[in-house]
Amino acid sequence: MKAVCVIPGKPNSVHLRDVPKPKVSDIAKGRGVLVKVLRVGVDGTDKEINAAEYGAAPKGDDYLTIGHESFGIVEEVGENVSELKPGDYVVATVRRPGNSFYDSIGTYDMTTDDVYYERGINLRHGYLTESYVDEPDYIVKVPQGLKEIGVLLEPMSVAEKGIVQAFEIQRRLRVWRPRRAAVMGAGTLGLLATMILRLRGLEVATFGRKQAPYLNARLIEELGAKYVSTAETSISAAAKHYGPFDIIFEGTGSSVVVFEAAENLGKNGVLILSSITGGGKKLEIPADKINLDFVLGNKVMFGTVNANREYFEAGVKDLAQCKAQYPGWAQKLMTHPVQGLENYQQMMNLLTTEKNAIKVYVEVAPMDTVELKMDREKAGKLMPA
Ligand code: BGC
Ligand code: ZN
Repeated sequence: MKAVCVIPGKPNSVHLRDVPKPKVSDIAKGRGVLVKVLRVGVDGTDKEINAAEYGAAPKGDDYLTIGHESFGIVEEVGENVSELKPGDYVVATVRRPGNSFYDSIGTYDMTTDDVYYERGINLRHGYLTESYVDEPDYIVKVPQGLKEIGVLLEPMSVAEKGIVQAFEIQRRLRVWRPRRAAVMGAGTLGLLATMILRLRGLEVATFGRKQAPYLNARLIEELGAKYVSTAETSISAAAKHYGPFDIIFEGTGSSVVVFEAAENLGKNGVLILSSITGGGKKLEIPADKINLDFVLGNKVMFGTVNANREYFEAGVKDLAQCKAQYPGWAQKLMTHPVQGLENYQQMMNLLTTEKNAIKVYVEVAPMDTVELKMDREKAGKLMPA
């Protein structure tokens, strides 16, 4: 079958390749779930992998199938799978367990191992291909009514983890009723974090670099949040207006913004760090002041990466609530579809050069033909002999 791959370590090596097709029996003990891939989203991580700044091939292979934001339909299950059935829409988690205690209890996103396994990113093949097989533990069911936006669930899970854990951490306050939040970054992750915080009833100011009006700023205002352009207003100036911030979600990819956010966190506040900053940037910061304010204000700052199935499930619930509360909103994030795996070059081009893209995704197989085929097969089975 076809797959979009890179040669890790070799810049711009993205290519289409023929790879072995997986089978349900590849997974032991009858626990295989074979999924036909329908859509795969791409993001900055895929860009970095193709630039050879990130990513590694599975042991024994010199190539890596990329793609970690999946959406598909179950085609076949092993005899010991009761959780899923053919025809179910699903999304797969990204990380797979290593050897630490955290890995053994299903919280592989909290691994303390130095080596981590991520499908489509590090040491495991991804989903930009025709089908994949995995265990049901890593596959989350998506209701039919969310199929048009289901491919947003992986980035959604990353935002969910940050926010759910912020609430978990703040149980230290016994009673915590956050009212104001800031989101740093107005890309896909920032938009999704803004939405999740709005669903929890917070006032939100979302910061982006571009000047409004543009699509992302409009989408933020549609949620009843405030878009702040850092081209016009500094974070500190805006914090006087819209703060003090009880929660700040940082996902810009810039460590400069991280410390500006730290300076503008309110008392008892929590700062969520989710940017992958692979560079070597050094910075002068008001260290005494930041430290003093953190101490005297009982503030927290924590890092978060990846997500286990708990946060994918939270994402499913919030996407459903989003659809009820802000009808049509999530659909508007799906700005740049690419038809078929063969158009991988167009996918990379959009990802690297299209400034107005929110979500670039590949339509690997058309949603409806699959459904019709499954319906016909089901009808055939139910027909009396
Ligand atoms: C993915 C995460 C992953 C992280 C680090 C992100 O793009 O969405 O699932 O853990 O990269 O590799
Ligand atoms: Zn990602």
